[in-house]
Amino acid sequence: MRKKLVVGNWKMHGSRASNAVLLAGLKEAGPWNAQVAVCVPFPYITETALALTGQLVAFGAQDCSAHEQGAYTGEVSSAMLADIGCRYVITGHSERRAYHHESDQLVADKAKAALAHGITPIVCVGETLAEREAGRTEEVVKRQLAAVIHTLTHCIGEIVVAYEPVWAIGTGLTATPEQAQHVHALLRQQLKAATQKADQMQILYGGSVKPDNAAQLFAQPDIDGGLIGGAALKAADFAAICRAA
Ligand code: 13P
Repeated sequence: MRKKLVVGNWKMHGSRASNAVLLAGLKEAGPWNAQVAVCVPFPYITETALALTGQLVAFGAQDCSAHEQGAYTGEVSSAMLADIGCRYVITGHSERRAYHHESDQLVADKAKAALAHGITPIVCVGETLAEREAGRTEEVVKRQLAAVIHTLTHCIGEIVVAYEPVWAIGTGLTATPEQAQHVHALLRQQLKAATQKADQMQILYGGSVKPDNAAQLFAQPDIDGGLIGGAALKAADFAAICRAA
């Protein structure tokens, strides 16, 4: 039986003051049956870690460098993230693929760097609206995941996968539970061909998950939780989603 996982992706939101309110709200609302984590902007990770001391809520980052160390101005290595206690790092979010031109291979290399430092990468895959309308959903997500499988080889079972259809992110257009389940099942099939651990791997859904649609999504056999954007910024909403998992 897979444990459910709900991860809040704060994206580029927050301030010390608003984070304190959000984290205090989460502390009051937990614990939950599901595993819960928040991936916060780099400058706030340490303070988030302190605020979550003694809590079951894990924390992590939203990106990491594929490089070990060196002259890479502005980059943050997974060794640094491990040094400050991060449990998770998101890699290949569609916003990074789109705005920072991250390739499938770069995303895979980042996931590899994270694993090398004991951090679980949450690898995002997902098609755009144009790709879905052209009937290319399957091809796109398989290609994105294949790069990660190829690069991580025997470690592939250690990652978390997140299916985030780009057209559902921040739009209020949630994939139906059936649409999401269909893709999740495909991804698990692909993982099964690569690792015996596929049945234990968590595959999260992300894209306009809200308190009122979370339970239906999480009830699908291959949906093991969610990656939550907007609704992760309000303690009451995020807590309700965690409860639904
Ligand atoms: P929303 O929940 O705001 O649609 O964002 C989803 C997401 O991109 C999480 O990584």
